[in-house]
Amino acid sequence: MIAPEMIVGVKSLPQGFEFHFAATTRPESALCGAEVTSTQIPPNFYGIDSAIEGRWCQRCDSLRRAALKAALAPPPSPGDAPCV
Ligand SMILES: [Zn+2]
Repeated sequence: MIAPEMIVGVKSLPQGFEFHFAATTRPESALCGAEVTSTQIPPNFYGIDSAIEGRWCQRCDSLRRAALKAALAPPPSPGDAPCV
């Protein structure tokens, strides 16, 4: 499994902005389900409070971490033939 490419999406709130993660394959829908507009913000800026004016979605943050972890985890088949 390959880690999905992520973009940072933004959602306008009555009082400011909220930033979310979305997969590049579905940039209009955040990982947490929010409707977002894609931005040019680099994903590695995510969570850095001084980088932007707005809030970072904590749910998207943990969902992305879980997706990356799942992508990095070895396949669940111990005892199988080595991959050489
Ligand atoms: Zn979110």
